[in-house]
Amino acid sequence: MDAPPPPATIEFVEVGPRDGLQNEKTLISTADKLGLIARAVAAGARRIEVTSFVNPKRVPQMADAEAVCAGLPDRDDVTYVGLVMNARGAERALATGRIDQLGAVCITTDRFAVANQGQSSDESLAAALEIVDMARTAGRSGQITIAAAFGCPFTGRVAEDRVVEMAARAAAARPAEIALADTIGVGDPAQAARLVALVRDAAPGVAVRVHFHNTRGTGLANVWAAVCAGARTVDAAIGGLGGCPFAPGAAGNVASEDVIYMLERAGVATGMDLAATIEASQWLSGVMGRTLPGMVARAPLFPEAIEGA
Ligand code: ZN
Repeated sequence: MDAPPPPATIEFVEVGPRDGLQNEKTLISTADKLGLIARAVAAGARRIEVTSFVNPKRVPQMADAEAVCAGLPDRDDVTYVGLVMNARGAERALATGRIDQLGAVCITTDRFAVANQGQSSDESLAAALEIVDMARTAGRSGQITIAAAFGCPFTGRVAEDRVVEMAARAAAARPAEIALADTIGVGDPAQAARLVALVRDAAPGVAVRVHFHNTRGTGLANVWAAVCAGARTVDAAIGGLGGCPFAPGAAGNVASEDVIYMLERAGVATGMDLAATIEASQWLSGVMGRTLPGMVARAPLFPEAIEGA
């Protein structure tokens, strides 16, 4: 049997300014966050998760959400996403006037939902539906991420039926898209392909985005499997930074430059400039003062420029 062909294009979403940085212990300056966002835009990113509007006591790294929004480049062609967990966060995000899309999150298990946002799983879904409504009422769009769709840091395996059920209920709110997130990086590519296909069936007409962490080295394989199964949009973070403050053991997002390299080399257009993304990753490594997890930015450029060509 022939494998399904990969798509000609995907949409790339840079999540480094939010998911990449949120778990860093050292506070990154607003100027450096804006530097990262400007580099992402220059590298071709047209949708960027720029910050989250959460309780600064819970996530100190995101305490400057309003200041980040005030400094965003004025670009009509870039969709700025703000992550929000509840109506209060949605109000803050909308009040900035700079957030084009609200990103809402629901969580598959009660244990993780309580740890992450002090709600049951069902309550987290209800909050996400409300956020999508608030976005639409304000003339913005809203999307819903199903977190811990591939496994829970506290309870282990998550039934695919639960993910599908949540996706179907989420779809009823007509979000701009539904994302499947492997928050703790436990997923495998067969599971990724299966879940994307199941959610596409359960939520016809709703685009599927995927969000993988590379905690156990399966991130890129999962991206490939998900894309071939019909995921239209892929999240990644420059340098492969990332983690979740409320999910023990969660590590970096798949690195933007690694995802872009893999997809472009395989003939899937991402709209991103690999060399500029590598430069952004190397710049961020300087800001952080350490080597970042992404691999492509640490390898020789391929292909090298051909002499005389
Ligand atoms: Zn994440």
